[in-house]
Amino acid sequence: MNSVRTRIAALVLTFVLLAPALFIVAEAQHDCQGDECQVCQVLAIASSIIQTAADVSAAASEAALFAVFVLLIAARPSRAASNTLVGLKVRLDC
Ligand SMILES: [Zn+2]
Repeated sequence: MNSVRTRIAALVLTFVLLAPALFIVAEAQHDCQGDECQVCQVLAIASSIIQTAADVSAAASEAALFAVFVLLIAARPSRAASNTLVGLKVRLDC
């Protein structure tokens, strides 16, 4: 049941992301009516949707890279704990 919902959500998301691009391709050579052309207005909205999706995708990938960077730094063993006086004395004894 959960898999079916996931597939339906993926199909809807794919359609929402592809529909503006398909509309732009289909109406690129339309018979323009001038300043009040409704097709041009819809083309502008479709272009805006595509640009917004690209911005969201870029922001998400930047956030993912930042999270990986923070996790790598957090997972790295700290040397500060071994730089105590006791730790240095233990090292000098080796
Ligand atoms: Zn037009």
